[in-house]
Amino acid sequence: MSVRRLNISLLCSLLLLLTSCSRQDTSGQQAIRIQSGQNIKLLTTTDTHYLSPRLTDNGPAFSRFLAAGDGKQLAYSSEILDALGNDIGIERPGAVIISGDLTNNGEKASHQDLAEHLRAIEQQTGTQIYVIPGNHDVQNPWARRFEGEKQIPVSSVTPKQFRSIYSEFGYGEALLKDNDSMSYLAAPSDDLWLLMLDTSQYSSNKKLGHPQLDGRLTDATLRWIDRCGKLAAEQGAQLVAVMHHSLLDHSEFVQEGFTLNNNGQAAAALIRNGISTVFSGHVHFQDIRSSGEDIYDIANSALSVYPHQYGILDYTPAAGTYEYHTSGLNMELWAKAAGSTDPNLLHFNSYSEAAFRRLSADRTYSRLAEESSYTAYTQKQLAAMADVVGRLNAVYFAGTADTELTAITDTEGYRLWQAAPYSGLKNYVLRMAELEQKDNNHLLVKLPGW
Ligand code: FE
Ligand code: MN
Repeated sequence: MSVRRLNISLLCSLLLLLTSCSRQDTSGQQAIRIQSGQNIKLLTTTDTHYLSPRLTDNGPAFSRFLAAGDGKQLAYSSEILDALGNDIGIERPGAVIISGDLTNNGEKASHQDLAEHLRAIEQQTGTQIYVIPGNHDVQNPWARRFEGEKQIPVSSVTPKQFRSIYSEFGYGEALLKDNDSMSYLAAPSDDLWLLMLDTSQYSSNKKLGHPQLDGRLTDATLRWIDRCGKLAAEQGAQLVAVMHHSLLDHSEFVQEGFTLNNNGQAAAALIRNGISTVFSGHVHFQDIRSSGEDIYDIANSALSVYPHQYGILDYTPAAGTYEYHTSGLNMELWAKAAGSTDPNLLHFNSYSEAAFRRLSADRTYSRLAEESSYTAYTQKQLAAMADVVGRLNAVYFAGTADTELTAITDTEGYRLWQAAPYSGLKNYVLRMAELEQKDNNHLLVKLPGW
């Protein structure tokens, strides 16, 4: 027996001692369902945008890509997944959901390496993970690796390859599969089932030359949802829906391409099948909306972007309640335990917040410095105004306007914006300062009929 094999079998027997035997059978094939009547906890995350470390040399082309981007911490893709695995081991949810944009731009190597991470997490924690694709994940013409000064095209995946790579993460474990999309129905517990809906459209990506942004549910998928609802009702299970695109508008700034094209039809189908809660992603910021209390759409912020948080849903069957709250990825804890010496990882919260704010502040500063109407301003004044934009964006993404907005509007930088000459940027800043001050990080849902 080789040393490597010995280590693996030793590790496996240790892990088996640590994990709950009721959740995982020894063949590693199909987990046993959580039984009826038990409380169940779901960990919901999204937009991991994993980039395989094999695809970057962290050189100038990669730096430029990050600087032009939207704040994803792509250089720490693997560490983020390791820290997530560590948190799953501590939280011990019954199931984990990732609602799309699993990879940076659908690179095959990223999918393969992410699946390796997920496999290790399932083996180490006994928790089942369920995924669906997002608009970036399949047949993406933007799939690239980064080498020196160059971005080099690499292969993406077909829908068939996607299903095969993630067969252990939903596709091989489904109760029902939709023929018209990569949607499926999964039952991690007797009482709570997952309607995993594929809302993305990838068949035209090649022709378009970019990943199609908008999403929809086809008529055939809507009819399939009714089959799922019927089956769940017959077996007395609650359904939560999971999709990449938004069911409800989450922002006055982004709607087209973000909210499902046929969201009215989709909401009607979900509501008539007794679904009261949807988990989505895609917008990258944290926001909870409801349509007159009939249905809630919880947009989880992106795991790959500040503030790197995920959602926890506690279902209590005896009370008929879902209790949702967000929780921050504990990178510091993982980095310390892993013996990392990287100060960014050891102080990840402050590092990532500063980097996120700097990205939008620096862009704002360059724009202000170029505009003729701002030439009378000192460098210090422009920097204070740019800082306000960085802080507003951070609050917007974290969904914490209810607790943090006033501290920003109560600054010299904000007063400078109020007195500034009209510009598109000023309009944006003033509208951001009027964000609805609601709690996007906690929710209590009473299930209908309770
Ligand atoms: Fe995304
Ligand atoms: Mn997306």
